[in-house]
Amino acid sequence: MKSIGVNQWAGADPWVADMVRDLEQLATRARQAERNRWKLLSPSDKFFRLANDRFQVAKLFGVAPVQGYWQIGEWTLAEINPMSLEDARDSRSFLVHLQSIYVVDAARGRGEGRRSIEQIKQLAEECGCGVTLFAKSFAFSRDGQLPNAVQTFDELLHSSLEKVWPVIYQPDWDSECLRFFYESCGLQNMCLYGSWVYNRPKEEDLPFDRHFAYLPNSMDPKWRSQIANRLNPNLCRFCNR
Ligand SMILES: [Zn+2]
Repeated sequence: MKSIGVNQWAGADPWVADMVRDLEQLATRARQAERNRWKLLSPSDKFFRLANDRFQVAKLFGVAPVQGYWQIGEWTLAEINPMSLEDARDSRSFLVHLQSIYVVDAARGRGEGRRSIEQIKQLAEECGCGVTLFAKSFAFSRDGQLPNAVQTFDELLHSSLEKVWPVIYQPDWDSECLRFFYESCGLQNMCLYGSWVYNRPKEEDLPFDRHFAYLPNSMDPKWRSQIANRLNPNLCRFCNR
């Protein structure tokens, strides 16, 4: 609008000048309203909104059959869900859970996974939202026994969204590699258990060092304090059961 200069219209066609001014005010008000709406959103709402903007919603034949899946970059598929911890009252509004992240097997070893994690962290930082995850390694399998390498993103999409291939969990050393990977990505250990662990054998527990969270610097201290006991296994009733 700068190039027009509202005053050029004064005199000859005052209604045009008025109209331009009205439109400008309208645009300013709309931007302000958008900013206000954004401020009112919880960190996790912001996270999911930004994920929709920045990542690609995973679709099969043009529709998203399952919610919560995004394609990050060319080769990574991530499933991110709402998260809540039972002793942290507002956790659903300031945490999200990275349920799974999978890089097409044929594209591994080139830093794809790390780049995707960095993008998720960046988004978390912008929203003040924490991201939690379990370090547990899985693969798709055709027969339910042996892992099967996924060759293309399309194959990964079908196996994830249609769930035609069973998921199998990889041996412990594989999860151990993941643990080092997440540590090197700057994630910290944070217990993600709830009272549901009381209903199963203790041997099935993933230890504290396999539970991770990325807690951005931008996270509001009032929320950070709600999960303080989760960061120390000595204070945690689930880890000490
Ligand atoms: Zn614990």
